[in-house]
Amino acid sequence: MALLEVQEVAKAFGSLKAVDGVSFEVEAGEIFGIAGPNGSGKSTLFNIVTGIPFGPDRGRVRLDGVEIQGRSGNAIAKLGLARTFQRETSFDGLTVFENALIGATYGGSVRATALAEERAAEALEFVGLGAPSFGRLAGELSVFERKCLMLATAVAMQPRILLLDEPASSLTKPEIEASIGLIRRIAARGITIVLIEHVLTFLMSLSQHLMVLNNGQVLARGRPAEVIADSRVVEAYLGTRRPAA
Ligand code: ADP
Ligand code: MG
Repeated sequence: MALLEVQEVAKAFGSLKAVDGVSFEVEAGEIFGIAGPNGSGKSTLFNIVTGIPFGPDRGRVRLDGVEIQGRSGNAIAKLGLARTFQRETSFDGLTVFENALIGATYGGSVRATALAEERAAEALEFVGLGAPSFGRLAGELSVFERKCLMLATAVAMQPRILLLDEPASSLTKPEIEASIGLIRRIAARGITIVLIEHVLTFLMSLSQHLMVLNNGQVLARGRPAEVIADSRVVEAYLGTRRPAA
């Protein structure tokens, strides 16, 4: 059985079908990539799977066989599903350590005890925000450091599955390389990863399976090499079909 099963989910904003009948399955332990042009419904798909901030209009989402659609984001997080956001989100007026501690105590599974503090510190060290950074204000971090902090906060929750929304956007090339390494190391901790990225090359090196969305629907799905060879994917990205050979 797949760890995450998404069946025919949909979400409309007025007459706009942002996600229009999308199905996919993520196996435990894999990195599953989701690509697609801007506006194709990737972030909305994460919203409706995680319940943050809203669930689907229709369709089913199962986490380890348990139906979770329609539950609150908080309840879903408690079951072991965590996410990050496309824009860096942190509590800017709190310190780096306090932000990670919120992850470690999220959902009330652990109170702000020595154990939670240990988890927060470990997650921060893990992403490269070591002890000298603990007392810095989140609002004073660079874009890259803020992305690392968002990952540390998610890792501190000890999720079974982590959904990452464009973790490499607005980063420099060396920072993108560092992010790829970090995502690999998160996966190596046994955390299943679903990764949104509109730059296909980023997903190619990381994911075992890849799904491409367009206009809220699944355009292609499969092994990365097969997917990028698909003429519909080429067309969606480049706007033209390759001339027939
Ligand atoms: P992607 O993440 O692939 O760039 P999104 O899921 O953010 O795409 O958006 C898909 C479509 O839904 C876009 O046309 C976007 O403008 C629209 N959309 C997303 N969120 C909302 C919202 N809260 N209210 C209205 N329209 C939205
Ligand atoms: Mg998006």
